[in-house]
Amino acid sequence: MAGEPQDDCLFCKIVAGQVPATIVRETKTTVAFRDINPQAPTHILVIPRAHHRDAAALAAADPALAADVLRETQAVADEEKLDSYRIVFNTGSGAGQTVWHAHAHVLGGRGLQWPPG
Ligand code: 5GP
Ligand code: ZN
Repeated sequence: MAGEPQDDCLFCKIVAGQVPATIVRETKTTVAFRDINPQAPTHILVIPRAHHRDAAALAAADPALAADVLRETQAVADEEKLDSYRIVFNTGSGAGQTVWHAHAHVLGGRGLQWPPG
């Protein structure tokens, strides 16, 4: 069910402390941790504690929680002293989504090309 922890979900396991991660910020509703395969000097994932399969499902099921995730991306950027950064929600396998628990990538610390690849 939407929002409930999923046994087979890596990010639910990180939320539960069953898989280690380098956590940089936590709130009542979100967790932010460093990506294991960083694509930029700063590459942090911000996730809701509750399980939703992607950003759109999260926004549809719980708009306030989606806003919490977005607010945290700015908090992460502030902590990392990023003037500019990019927020990415890969949605669907064709766009590179590999973990089916909504997550915002916060990327910064280098020049970021536009349009992205
Ligand atoms: P996606 O490809 O779904 O948009 O993003 C998933 C991200 O999770 C990838 O950037 C990948 O490097 C990261 N990732 C996958 N497994 C782990 C892990 O065990 N720990 C951490 N910290 N990041 C992970
Ligand atoms: Zn999950």
